[in-house]
Amino acid sequence: MIVVLKPNYQEAQLNSLRKWLKSLSIDIQVNEGHSQTVLGLLGDTTTLDSDLIRALEFVESVTQVQEPYKKANRKFHPDDTIVRVGEVEIGGGSVTIIAGPCSVESPDQLCSIAQSVKAAGAQLLRGGAFKPRTSPYAFQGMRGRGIELLLEARKLTGLPIVTEIMDLSQLDLFAEVDVIQVGARNMQNFEMLKELGKSDKPILLKRGLSSTIQELLMSAEYIMSGGNSNVILCERGIRTFETATRNTFDLSAIPVVKELAHLPIIADPSHATGFSKYVAPMALAAVAAGADGLIIEVHNDPPHAMCDGIQSLTPGDFAELATRIRATAPYAYRRGAEGGTNL
Ligand code: PEP
Ligand code: MN
Repeated sequence: MIVVLKPNYQEAQLNSLRKWLKSLSIDIQVNEGHSQTVLGLLGDTTTLDSDLIRALEFVESVTQVQEPYKKANRKFHPDDTIVRVGEVEIGGGSVTIIAGPCSVESPDQLCSIAQSVKAAGAQLLRGGAFKPRTSPYAFQGMRGRGIELLLEARKLTGLPIVTEIMDLSQLDLFAEVDVIQVGARNMQNFEMLKELGKSDKPILLKRGLSSTIQELLMSAEYIMSGGNSNVILCERGIRTFETATRNTFDLSAIPVVKELAHLPIIADPSHATGFSKYVAPMALAAVAAGADGLIIEVHNDPPHAMCDGIQSLTPGDFAELATRIRATAPYAYRRGAEGGTNL
């Protein structure tokens, strides 16, 4: 249930409502928006008489929220959430670029890519230390050493780092990591999501290979219900009958998520398409559709990459794309105040 307050409400009125609801085991989440204050009522509101709340003089309106995701729901929090990673702001109208190799392979490889993507304008560095591979015989990542190398690359370039956790037993190794990535294969690892909800670190939550948008939002809800609202969603393509690309890039997920939820959503055109030649058009399409950012795989020597070389851009191609992203961003679709277009 959501309760919109009249602009001139008094703190004492809110407190007495809070006290009454608390006695019914219902918590209030207060969202002070630009234009209004919205209360999200969390708990079992099925037996709550909404007319009693509606009758309060400082209440503007009361609405039942049908969707199972509450904290992630835009109805609870009408303004865009901005997730801060150091000095970088993700969400709220900017386009953040995360770039780097699929996997951390060596100090030289990582540092050289980190310097090139930084020079091209990337704001965060990605790199997999723990790699989810279809084959147990494929390169599994440098694991703990990979995280050490990412921290060194951060020291060298100043770029915050994003890297994937594959199992909760690895969590201690992520203490210094700036953004913890939950990969597509772990989107519904609910125990992991609950544990990450106890942290205040930004979490990059990728959409599962066969997950609906609602399932993605429910996974975000797991993290948020634990108290961590620093969630960045990522559309990375879904499994369909199409085989011409690695996955099918669900571009429409971007405006749909932006309507349903207040969390930032970024796009991963590398995993969505699986081929470097399709990365630029899909990256630009995602920006035009209103994505809050992109995560792009870049490798200094794609043919010899240990993982995902086929979809990796060279540093030169990435630099060219970054210029085009910056040129496209001002024309991106943005939700207007009423959820329409402001174009
Ligand atoms: C990755 O980012 O390298 C990765 C494995 O992504 P996904 O979980 O989307 O497949
Ligand atoms: Mn990859």
